Amino acid sequence: MPARGSRIGPGDGATCRCTTRSATASPSAKSRTTEVLWPRLIRALLSHPVTAPGPHVPPDTVSALGARLDAAARARLGRSLAIRSVDTGSCNACELEANALQNPVHDLERFGLRFVASPRHADVLLVTGPLTANMREALEHTYAAMPAPKWVVAAGDCAIDGGVFKGTYAVEGGAGAALPVDLVIPGCPPTPEQFLEGLLAILEAEGRP
Ligand code: SF4
Repeated sequence: MPARGSRIGPGDGATCRCTTRSATASPSAKSRTTEVLWPRLIRALLSHPVTAPGPHVPPDTVSALGARLDAAARARLGRSLAIRSVDTGSCNACELEANALQNPVHDLERFGLRFVASPRHADVLLVTGPLTANMREALEHTYAAMPAPKWVVAAGDCAIDGGVFKGTYAVEGGAGAALPVDLVIPGCPPTPEQFLEGLLAILEAEGRP
């Protein structure tokens, strides 16, 4: 046993365990490992990833809606549309569909549609999920921080009236229980195209805000 504080180095008779193991691995074990690993590695490299086919999205429809949304936002606001999304207790499926507006399939950012982190930069408050008691205050603060003109959109059946969670102990109803809602987008969940049509409708509506 080496003295306390002394360093062990080459030539001291000490050998790392891993070195010992690899040095003593038999040639037949090595060749067995190679036989098993290489075919698997090659199969993995040559096979396609297992994924579900993407949804069919008519590209012309999305482009036309996006262009209309961009034109309507510029006419109404003088710039592109900024959205602050708040999930007040959803199952997350509504957010997945809303986020799909930004994925490579829809790519609505090319028309200026942006999700922003701060309510102070937002024109639209997009609410998803039932209004839970814990999220009411956060939702009200978010709305209060937004500059006018501002719109509230309740997206999905839960945000409209609580949906499948209606009547449960933690749910107070839909977004309308806390805020003045300007537009509802029904669906469980709504599709990205329905989100787009709803946003377009709110910008093209006459006399608001
Ligand atoms: S409307 Fe449907 S998808 Fe959206 S949060 Fe409610 S249960 Fe989930």
